[in-house]
Amino acid sequence: MSQFKIGQYLNIQGIWLNLKYVFKLHRIKPDIMVDSILDLELAKLKYEKKVKYIVFDKDNTLTHPYKIEIEKLLEPKIEEYKKVFGEENLAILSNSAGSKDDINYLEATKIEKASGLKVVKHFHKKPRVYNDILKTFNLNQSDCINNEICVIGDRLLVDILMGKEYGFFTILVKPLTLKRENFVVKILRRFENFLLKCNKILP
Ligand SMILES: [Mg+2]
Repeated sequence: MSQFKIGQYLNIQGIWLNLKYVFKLHRIKPDIMVDSILDLELAKLKYEKKVKYIVFDKDNTLTHPYKIEIEKLLEPKIEEYKKVFGEENLAILSNSAGSKDDINYLEATKIEKASGLKVVKHFHKKPRVYNDILKTFNLNQSDCINNEICVIGDRLLVDILMGKEYGFFTILVKPLTLKRENFVVKILRRFENFLLKCNKILP
């Protein structure tokens, strides 16, 4: 249990947001769904969809769960994201690294060094990280249109729901691996896949 932090099991704000959407589950649809961040056409994202800032979920989107390093296969693509959007306009968001559970932001610092990307520092868990995301990009609420911020993540009821709540552009990717996921996530993933089927996103 040492590396499986309790905060990753229990997230009151996340549960509340899920309850808020319980009668409008049909609205929880990502704007785009792809297998991985490798499959996105970055110029299209920037010039057609008008995305300026990207927030990557960490676990199972960029890294294997609980790992610091970006998955090797994704590294060249991350360099492409940096060129297209600018390094300062990309950030990683994790419910562990960069959170108040991350003492002295040691884990966040390691990830920043390994990836060359900023990690969002936040007191609350997802989804209550809107102001922290703006702060990471040195933005005020008046500086940007919310759909200029894109969130990319592997969890429909976490990353995509958070993005929908704030009016971000949302991209759902498939998880890098299903290994080492705790039982709660396994059950929620089944429900998420069920919702995607109901919403005709998945066949
Ligand atoms: Mg994830």
